[in-house]
Amino acid sequence: MRKLRIFFILVCIIMTLGIISWGEYVGGDEDPGFNGLTVSAQYEEDCVIIPVSELSRAMDMNFSFNEDSGILYTEKDGYSLYFKLMDEEHELDERGLVLYGREEDKPFDSYKVKLLMQYAVDSYDSNLSEVFDKLSVGSDAAGKAIKLIEASITVEDSKGYISFEKIGTSTSEINNDSLKEILNNHLLLVNRDNTLSNDYVPQNLTKVAPSKGGVSVNMKVEKEVMDNLNILLEEAYSDGIKDYLITSAYRDYNKQKNLFSNKVNSLLKNMGRDAAEKEAATIVAVPGTSEHQTGMAVDICNFTTSLERAFADTPHGKWLEKNSWKYGFIVRYQKDKMDITKIIYEPWHLRYVGVGHSEYMKMNNLCMEEYIEYLKGNRMISFETQDGSKYIVEYIEKSELEDTGLMLDLPENYQWMVSNVDKDGYALTITY
Ligand code: ZN
Repeated sequence: MRKLRIFFILVCIIMTLGIISWGEYVGGDEDPGFNGLTVSAQYEEDCVIIPVSELSRAMDMNFSFNEDSGILYTEKDGYSLYFKLMDEEHELDERGLVLYGREEDKPFDSYKVKLLMQYAVDSYDSNLSEVFDKLSVGSDAAGKAIKLIEASITVEDSKGYISFEKIGTSTSEINNDSLKEILNNHLLLVNRDNTLSNDYVPQNLTKVAPSKGGVSVNMKVEKEVMDNLNILLEEAYSDGIKDYLITSAYRDYNKQKNLFSNKVNSLLKNMGRDAAEKEAATIVAVPGTSEHQTGMAVDICNFTTSLERAFADTPHGKWLEKNSWKYGFIVRYQKDKMDITKIIYEPWHLRYVGVGHSEYMKMNNLCMEEYIEYLKGNRMISFETQDGSKYIVEYIEKSELEDTGLMLDLPENYQWMVSNVDKDGYALTITY
């Protein structure tokens, strides 16, 4: 930064000496040393704007701004490219890149802007190679990549000169083999339209052993769920909510099948088989559609109120409704979402989805089906949680990841994970 300033001051001195003109040196097409983008810039009262149309022209691509995901994107047969602004002092919106912090008395302004760049390229032709050469952060191999980059922008005399540099220091490549090792089930959607096979068994089942409260029978659950459930139980205990009782956790396909047929049989006294099966399906999940088969869900009540609607009005039920999101859980089947989940209100059924996702769903009153739909409908969603952590979540189609893999070039303090979602795709979550 400082070197750059000294450099520009030197150039200015040379200019005044009349040896070389400023415009020719930095931005001129004749300069062989500058390989970035040259664009027109607009001065506003407190900012400089590099319009979307100018970025499109300079890169010979047709960018649009997506307000929901906050990204500038372009898509064509053969490639897609998007940019997301990662700095808070500037803005990226429908006007373009809006740069703040102009100093009026200087002959030029310079900015450093952090961007998350994502591209997916099927194959490079010469035009595309030229653009990626200007970005100096891509590669010429087909594939998909997410990279944190920095744009150095100098604006002088209504012209902007942009060069790019990769700033991610930690490179990871996700391919078909490594994916199997890292995939989790935080956002695995299981319902009537998204079923599990009858031989699906979770990978890391552990005994349900609550640090506070009790269990009704021996059972198992995914280890990560148990660990976070224990944190939840400890916190509830310190809030004076004691004696939770865990009555159900992982259930295999056959167990679910028995539960379902028992429910149908009990209903048969009052109705025909078709009606009984229909009714039973709203109360007990049809085999293959139960979250309990994932090992990511538990049923939890207290010692005096069992799994019944009235649990919602007990201090235990109220505490879960109010606080479970803090520990990565959601009350999965809500009263006002029955038409979407197709399951009755179950104030006792907790599903682990991981913190961040749980907070977003709770604060925006989204059930899991709605959250996944929102995720799939937007290219990329981003949000900040109350503790100041930032999240970027993206739905990636399976075919896309399996064909070419994904390269991540991010700084060391960025964390990421990939979750199963449905039969078509995964969710990539980046946290920083
Ligand atoms: Zn349940």
